[in-house]
Amino acid sequence: MKELRGMPVVKAMTAKLSEEVKDLAGQGITPTLAIVRVGARPDDLSYERGATKRFTSVGAAVKVLELPETCTQEELEATVRGANEDAGVHGILIFRPLPKHLSEEPLKALIAPEKDVDCFGNAGYANLFIGAKDAYPPCTPQAVVELIDHYGIDLTGKKVTIVGRSLVVGKPLMVMLLAKNATVKVCHTRTRDLAAECRDAEIVVAAAGVAKMLKADFVAPGQIVIDVGINMDGDTLCGDVDAEAVSGIVDALTPVPGGIGTITTAVLLKHTVMSARRSVQ
Ligand code: NDP
Repeated sequence: MKELRGMPVVKAMTAKLSEEVKDLAGQGITPTLAIVRVGARPDDLSYERGATKRFTSVGAAVKVLELPETCTQEELEATVRGANEDAGVHGILIFRPLPKHLSEEPLKALIAPEKDVDCFGNAGYANLFIGAKDAYPPCTPQAVVELIDHYGIDLTGKKVTIVGRSLVVGKPLMVMLLAKNATVKVCHTRTRDLAAECRDAEIVVAAAGVAKMLKADFVAPGQIVIDVGINMDGDTLCGDVDAEAVSGIVDALTPVPGGIGTITTAVLLKHTVMSARRSVQ
């Protein structure tokens, strides 16, 4: 079985993006991502560190707009408005979930679509669904597409089953894989005989958030399996696929950790660079 690792994808992406950042630097522009963070959740801090490392390694920048956990909705909205209006900011990432007293909904209309590099807002989804050229898909499903492209997997006419229909992964990925001419089936908790739906596909994407849910009876020989899940199994990080159980059956599998999750900050960088370029065109 071939292991489809994320790092070679990241290396190829950052080599290309580094050239683009150099070119933009020549025009006096540093692609800059503003991260809006409320409080200091360990997950957020860890992602922020990863993103900052990825950006600074190619000469791009991350600006953290930190708010106390007790901030008001008005303060949060003023921060997003400030980032919208700041010509030195090309991308905006708002960490979720927000504390319970704050609402995401007004932000979805507020965030500037041209800076919404992780598809937080409603306009971003509208752009994605109508196939607009300047759409920024959410980073996780885009990471799946980057991996598919990097490893030269042709989706034309292929049967793809996606497990999960969230707005963050499954639903946007459905649109993105349709655009690559796959025949896409999207499964969820009400799907009858999920294992059979998975076995029937040529490519399976697991994004359910259930540790090691896809066992040997969910897969078939010749398949490519892409595991988006990030779960804890006791103290160990694992995906939605039981890698040990399927490795003797399928053709290729993305590892967890070291697969899709590795690619998302490179996508964030790609979208921020695209936005910076568009700001001078
Ligand atoms: P959600 O919980 O929002 O959605 C899960 C989806 O999976 C739902 O559509 C749900 O169906 C479906 N599902 C859950 N359990 C089952 C089951 N037993 N059988 C069939 N379908 C099921 O999760 P997310 O989409 O946000 O995330 C999915 C996974 O991807 C998680 O492990 C998450 O940690 C990971 N993730 C990884 C990222 C990365 O960078 N690699 C980034 C974002 C997420 P229903 O709609 O019927 O409830």
